Amino acid sequence: MSYQIAIDGPAGAGKSTIAKKVAKEKGFIYVDTGAMYRAMAYYLLTQNVNPENAEAVEKRCVEADIAIRYENGEQVVLLNGENVNAVIRSEEVGKMASASSPYPKVRQRITALQKELARTNDVVMDGRDIGTCVLPNADVKVYLTAGAHVRAQRRYDELCAKGVSCDIRQIEEDIIERDKQDMTREISPLKQAEDAVLIDSSYMSIDEVVQSILDLCK
Ligand code: C5P
Repeated sequence: MSYQIAIDGPAGAGKSTIAKKVAKEKGFIYVDTGAMYRAMAYYLLTQNVNPENAEAVEKRCVEADIAIRYENGEQVVLLNGENVNAVIRSEEVGKMASASSPYPKVRQRITALQKELARTNDVVMDGRDIGTCVLPNADVKVYLTAGAHVRAQRRYDELCAKGVSCDIRQIEEDIIERDKQDMTREISPLKQAEDAVLIDSSYMSIDEVVQSILDLCK
Protein backbone atom coordinates (compact mmCIF):
# COMPACT_ATOMS: atom_id res chain seq x y z
CA MET A 1 0.00 0.00 0.00
CA SER A 2 1.25 3.47 -0.81
CA TYR A 3 1.61 6.13 1.90
CA GLN A 4 -0.60 9.17 1.34
CA ILE A 5 -0.30 12.65 2.82
CA ALA A 6 -3.17 14.97 1.86
CA ILE A 7 -2.84 18.74 2.27
CA ASP A 8 -5.85 20.92 1.52
CA GLY A 9 -6.45 24.60 2.02
CA PRO A 10 -7.29 27.94 0.41
CA ALA A 11 -5.28 29.85 -2.20
CA GLY A 12 -1.96 31.19 -0.97
CA ALA A 13 -1.80 29.20 2.27
CA GLY A 14 1.65 27.92 1.28
CA LYS A 15 0.50 24.41 0.41
CA SER A 16 2.87 23.83 -2.50
CA THR A 17 5.99 25.14 -0.71
CA ILE A 18 5.23 23.02 2.35
CA ALA A 19 4.13 19.93 0.41
CA LYS A 20 7.29 19.99 -1.73
CA LYS A 21 9.51 20.09 1.35
CA VAL A 22 7.58 17.34 3.11
CA ALA A 23 7.82 15.20 -0.05
CA LYS A 24 11.56 15.76 -0.23
CA GLU A 25 12.05 14.81 3.42
CA LYS A 26 9.99 11.65 3.00
CA GLY A 27 11.31 10.72 -0.46
CA PHE A 28 7.74 10.77 -1.84
CA ILE A 29 6.46 12.38 -5.03
CA TYR A 30 4.72 15.74 -4.73
CA VAL A 31 1.46 15.99 -6.64
CA ASP A 32 0.26 19.55 -7.26
CA THR A 33 -3.39 18.98 -8.18
CA GLY A 34 -4.08 22.69 -8.71
CA ALA A 35 -1.64 22.55 -11.64
CA MET A 36 -3.90 19.97 -13.32
CA TYR A 37 -6.96 22.23 -12.99
CA ARG A 38 -4.79 25.08 -14.26
CA ALA A 39 -3.72 23.06 -17.31
CA MET A 40 -7.38 22.36 -18.06
CA ALA A 41 -8.18 26.07 -17.57
CA TYR A 42 -5.34 27.03 -19.88
CA TYR A 43 -6.74 24.76 -22.55
CA LEU A 44 -10.23 26.26 -22.18
CA LEU A 45 -8.77 29.79 -22.34
CA THR A 46 -6.89 29.00 -25.56
CA GLN A 47 -10.18 27.71 -27.01
CA ASN A 48 -12.08 30.84 -25.91
CA VAL A 49 -14.54 28.77 -23.90
CA ASN A 50 -16.82 30.84 -21.67
CA PRO A 51 -16.61 29.23 -18.18
CA GLU A 52 -20.24 30.13 -17.52
CA ASN A 53 -21.33 28.04 -20.48
CA ALA A 54 -21.66 24.61 -18.84
CA GLU A 55 -22.38 22.83 -22.09
CA ALA A 56 -19.27 24.26 -23.76
CA VAL A 57 -17.00 23.46 -20.80
CA GLU A 58 -18.27 19.87 -20.52
CA LYS A 59 -17.98 19.36 -24.26
CA ARG A 60 -14.52 20.84 -24.72
CA CYS A 61 -12.85 19.55 -21.53
CA VAL A 62 -12.60 16.03 -22.96
CA GLU A 63 -10.25 17.35 -25.65
CA ALA A 64 -7.64 18.19 -23.01
CA ASP A 65 -5.43 15.21 -22.27
CA ILE A 66 -3.61 16.01 -19.03
CA ALA A 67 -0.69 13.91 -17.83
CA ILE A 68 2.07 14.21 -15.26
CA ARG A 69 5.73 13.45 -15.62
CA TYR A 70 8.60 13.90 -13.15
CA GLU A 71 11.87 15.49 -14.25
CA ASN A 72 14.60 15.74 -11.60
CA GLY A 73 11.92 15.41 -8.94
CA GLU A 74 9.86 18.30 -10.40
CA GLN A 75 6.29 17.77 -11.55
CA VAL A 76 5.82 18.54 -15.22
CA VAL A 77 2.23 18.95 -16.43
CA LEU A 78 1.61 17.87 -19.98
CA LEU A 79 -1.38 19.18 -21.90
CA ASN A 80 -1.91 17.16 -25.06
CA GLY A 81 1.75 16.17 -24.86
CA GLU A 82 3.16 19.70 -24.30
CA ASN A 83 4.84 20.90 -21.12
CA VAL A 84 2.64 23.78 -19.87
CA ASN A 85 4.38 24.48 -16.53
CA ALA A 86 5.55 27.90 -17.71
CA VAL A 87 2.13 29.18 -18.78
CA ILE A 88 -0.26 28.06 -16.03
CA ARG A 89 0.85 30.24 -13.12
CA SER A 90 -0.85 33.52 -14.07
CA GLU A 91 -3.78 35.02 -12.14
CA GLU A 92 -5.86 34.74 -15.31
CA VAL A 93 -5.33 30.97 -15.45
CA GLY A 94 -5.94 30.69 -11.67
CA LYS A 95 -9.28 32.46 -11.97
CA MET A 96 -10.29 30.30 -14.94
CA ALA A 97 -9.27 27.18 -12.97
CA SER A 98 -11.55 28.23 -10.14
CA ALA A 99 -14.39 28.95 -12.59
CA SER A 100 -14.07 25.67 -14.52
CA SER A 101 -13.18 23.27 -11.67
CA PRO A 102 -16.77 22.97 -10.37
CA TYR A 103 -17.91 21.07 -13.48
CA PRO A 104 -18.36 17.33 -12.83
CA LYS A 105 -16.71 16.22 -16.06
CA VAL A 106 -13.65 18.37 -15.43
CA ARG A 107 -13.32 16.93 -11.91
CA GLN A 108 -13.89 13.33 -12.99
CA ARG A 109 -11.10 13.46 -15.54
CA ILE A 110 -8.63 15.09 -13.19
CA THR A 111 -9.41 13.13 -10.02
CA ALA A 112 -9.03 9.81 -11.88
CA LEU A 113 -5.44 10.80 -12.70
CA GLN A 114 -4.79 11.85 -9.08
CA LYS A 115 -6.13 8.57 -7.66
CA GLU A 116 -3.98 6.56 -10.04
CA LEU A 117 -0.84 8.51 -9.05
CA ALA A 118 -1.56 7.89 -5.36
CA ARG A 119 -2.29 4.21 -5.93
CA THR A 120 1.10 3.56 -7.47
CA ASN A 121 3.33 6.00 -5.53
CA ASP A 122 3.89 7.31 -2.01
CA VAL A 123 2.57 10.85 -2.32
CA VAL A 124 2.21 14.25 -0.78
CA MET A 125 -0.79 15.63 -2.65
CA ASP A 126 -2.11 19.15 -2.21
CA GLY A 127 -5.36 20.71 -3.38
CA ARG A 128 -8.88 21.52 -2.21
CA ASP A 129 -10.62 18.15 -2.00
CA ILE A 130 -7.82 15.66 -1.41
CA GLY A 131 -8.66 14.65 2.16
CA THR A 132 -12.41 14.85 1.59
CA CYS A 133 -12.83 13.23 -1.86
CA VAL A 134 -9.72 12.10 -3.72
CA LEU A 135 -7.90 10.24 -0.90
CA PRO A 136 -10.49 9.72 1.84
CA ASN A 137 -8.25 7.07 3.47
CA ALA A 138 -5.04 9.12 3.40
CA ASP A 139 -2.61 8.27 6.21
CA VAL A 140 -2.20 11.93 7.16
CA LYS A 141 -4.62 14.77 6.40
CA VAL A 142 -3.83 18.42 6.94
CA TYR A 143 -5.96 21.50 6.41
CA LEU A 144 -3.47 24.30 5.95
CA THR A 145 -4.72 27.85 6.16
CA ALA A 146 -3.69 31.42 7.01
CA GLY A 147 -5.53 34.73 7.27
CA ALA A 148 -6.55 36.28 3.92
CA HIS A 149 -4.38 39.32 4.59
CA VAL A 150 -1.31 37.20 5.35
CA ARG A 151 -1.90 35.14 2.19
CA ALA A 152 -2.26 38.30 0.10
CA GLN A 153 0.95 39.72 1.58
CA ARG A 154 2.85 36.51 0.72
CA ARG A 155 1.57 36.57 -2.86
CA TYR A 156 2.42 40.27 -3.14
CA ASP A 157 5.98 39.68 -1.89
CA GLU A 158 6.37 36.79 -4.34
CA LEU A 159 5.26 38.92 -7.30
CA CYS A 160 7.40 41.91 -6.22
CA ALA A 161 10.43 39.61 -5.99
CA LYS A 162 9.76 38.64 -9.61
CA GLY A 163 9.56 42.32 -10.56
CA VAL A 164 5.81 42.18 -11.29
CA SER A 165 3.98 45.35 -10.22
CA CYS A 166 0.72 44.67 -8.39
CA ASP A 167 -1.81 46.02 -5.94
CA ILE A 168 -2.05 44.21 -2.62
CA ARG A 169 -5.69 45.18 -2.09
CA GLN A 170 -6.59 43.70 -5.46
CA ILE A 171 -4.71 40.51 -4.60
CA GLU A 172 -6.58 40.21 -1.29
CA GLU A 173 -9.92 40.78 -3.02
CA ASP A 174 -9.09 38.10 -5.61
CA ILE A 175 -8.06 35.65 -2.87
CA ILE A 176 -11.30 36.22 -0.97
CA GLU A 177 -13.32 35.81 -4.16
CA ARG A 178 -11.52 32.58 -5.10
CA ASP A 179 -11.98 31.14 -1.58
CA LYS A 180 -15.69 31.91 -1.80
CA GLN A 181 -15.99 30.23 -5.18
CA ASP A 182 -14.04 27.14 -4.02
CA MET A 183 -15.86 26.83 -0.68
CA THR A 184 -19.40 27.29 -1.93
CA ARG A 185 -19.42 25.15 -5.06
CA GLU A 186 -21.75 22.16 -4.99
CA ILE A 187 -19.24 19.45 -5.93
CA SER A 188 -16.17 18.82 -3.77
CA PRO A 189 -16.13 22.23 -2.06
CA LEU A 190 -13.04 23.25 -0.16
CA LYS A 191 -13.56 22.27 3.46
CA GLN A 192 -11.63 20.67 6.26
CA ALA A 193 -12.08 16.89 6.35
CA GLU A 194 -13.40 15.71 9.72
CA ASP A 195 -10.20 13.78 10.39
CA ALA A 196 -7.82 16.49 9.09
CA VAL A 197 -5.47 18.37 11.40
CA LEU A 198 -5.88 22.14 11.15
CA ILE A 199 -2.66 24.13 10.80
CA ASP A 200 -2.89 27.91 10.68
CA SER A 201 0.41 29.06 9.24
CA SER A 202 -0.23 32.81 9.71
CA TYR A 203 2.46 33.12 12.36
CA MET A 204 4.53 30.03 11.63
CA SER A 205 7.72 29.67 9.60
CA ILE A 206 7.84 27.26 6.67
CA ASP A 207 10.13 24.92 8.61
CA GLU A 208 7.78 24.88 11.59
CA VAL A 209 4.86 23.87 9.40
CA VAL A 210 6.94 21.20 7.63
CA GLN A 211 8.07 19.79 10.96
CA SER A 212 4.55 19.66 12.35
CA ILE A 213 3.43 17.62 9.32
CA LEU A 214 6.44 15.29 9.59
CA ASP A 215 5.52 14.79 13.27
CA LEU A 216 2.04 13.68 12.21
CA CYS A 217 3.61 10.95 10.05
CA LYS A 218 5.27 9.24 13.01
O1 C5P B 1 -4.00 25.62 -5.96
P1 C5P B 1 -4.20 26.43 -7.23
O2 C5P B 1 -4.29 27.89 -7.04
O3 C5P B 1 -3.20 26.07 -8.28
O4 C5P B 1 -5.62 25.92 -7.79
C1 C5P B 1 -6.30 26.57 -8.82
C2 C5P B 1 -7.78 26.26 -8.73
O5 C5P B 1 -8.00 24.88 -9.07
C3 C5P B 1 -8.41 26.42 -7.35
O6 C5P B 1 -8.84 27.74 -7.10
C4 C5P B 1 -9.59 25.44 -7.39
O7 C5P B 1 -10.74 26.01 -7.97
C5 C5P B 1 -9.10 24.36 -8.33
N1 C5P B 1 -8.70 23.16 -7.59
C6 C5P B 1 -9.68 22.27 -7.23
N2 C5P B 1 -9.34 21.11 -6.61
C7 C5P B 1 -8.06 20.83 -6.32
C8 C5P B 1 -7.04 21.74 -6.67
C9 C5P B 1 -7.39 22.92 -7.29
O8 C5P B 1 -10.85 22.49 -7.47
N3 C5P B 1 -7.77 19.67 -5.74
